[in-house]
Amino acid sequence: MLTLRKRISEVLEREALDLKEIAKLFGMREREVLDHLKHLEKSSHSQHLIAEPAYCMACGFSFKKRTRLNTPGRCPICKSEQISPPRFKIDLPGKKIKASP
Ligand SMILES: [Zn+2]
Repeated sequence: MLTLRKRISEVLEREALDLKEIAKLFGMREREVLDHLKHLEKSSHSQHLIAEPAYCMACGFSFKKRTRLNTPGRCPICKSEQISPPRFKIDLPGKKIKASP
């Protein structure tokens, strides 16, 4: 039987999702998802957890320097609170790793 963490990693191999989407998919709290992601990040030898940075939907500012796993509250440039949360995915070896835009 697959562990929950394994199932999360399999989903993220197929598509990039944000915390909310993962939480909904597995019926968990976002905090729990975050915990699993942190473990995935540490324990994955053969795969890479990629976090696409959060960005401001108003001006397009990208939160590249920010802690990778959390969603920022507001944009430092335009003060908008419409922030698109970071999305997570897993790249497997052999696949070409695409850099974040
Ligand atoms: Zn902005």
